[in-house]
Amino acid sequence: MEARTAEPGPAVWLTACAHGDEVGGMVVVQEIFKRLRKRPLLSGSLHAFPLMNPLGFEAGARHVTMSEEDLNRSFPGNAKGTLAERIAEKIFAAICETRPAVVMDLHNDWIGSIPYAVLDPPPLAGSLMAYDKASTLAAKTGLPVVAEPEAIRHSLSHSLLLKDVPAMTVELGESYVVNERFVETGVKAVWSVLAELKLVEQDEAPFVYPLPAELQGRTFRYSSHPTTSTSGVLRFLARPGDIVRGGQPVAKVFNAFGRLQETLTAPADALVLGKSDSSVAFPGAPVMAFGLL
Ligand SMILES: [Zn+2]
Repeated sequence: MEARTAEPGPAVWLTACAHGDEVGGMVVVQEIFKRLRKRPLLSGSLHAFPLMNPLGFEAGARHVTMSEEDLNRSFPGNAKGTLAERIAEKIFAAICETRPAVVMDLHNDWIGSIPYAVLDPPPLAGSLMAYDKASTLAAKTGLPVVAEPEAIRHSLSHSLLLKDVPAMTVELGESYVVNERFVETGVKAVWSVLAELKLVEQDEAPFVYPLPAELQGRTFRYSSHPTTSTSGVLRFLARPGDIVRGGQPVAKVFNAFGRLQETLTAPADALVLGKSDSSVAFPGAPVMAFGLL
């Protein structure tokens, strides 16, 4: 999808549904383009791939089903590589050709997740310009900004940063179904970034995630630890969006007879980003995601 103006200005990309079961981002893209019919772009251009993984989408599956590959671990791609690498190569080349000011890759998370923007770590070598730009624009989304402690190699956003293209991943709540509340959040978050880059006018109050005042503007550090060491049924003691203190119990694992096997505690003061879709605990399985303070 594409919207252009004659006015010179930055190019922005929206990408969605790299994971076929994460359908909400596609609707955010559709809503943004719908809005542009009434409030046309002022400058620059907006581009989108609303459905990067149609094979996964049709099957309601995360991966490229034919080859069981994760498209978001296949970038920058390879024209002579595997199926996912070939798809990735076409997407990556089309994006890079426009020399974008930012790429927002829209994803969905566990069912019980709050929306948040994810920043990849700064590249170890080369320029920090793209990273700094991504960081500034991530804050403009109004979403909690969560930094990945380690690079997710071959993801779209990380691969773009290595090419000096500002990029971020936006997690907009649950997978599988379109949650209208998170669509609205996503549209507002994207619109604020477009307004910051002067592609559109900020003609309504921007979205701001309701964090306590002292945490506004903070960057959180992503953690999916602790994991469980036992198996059994999980009962959560904290909800997504809660602020928890280090050492605070956040979940308990019971065996089939109701005997407590394990109590999981928050690794540090943190914002609870999400909890697992499953209440069946297995040793080593992540059960909650935190944005550490
Ligand atoms: Zn995803």
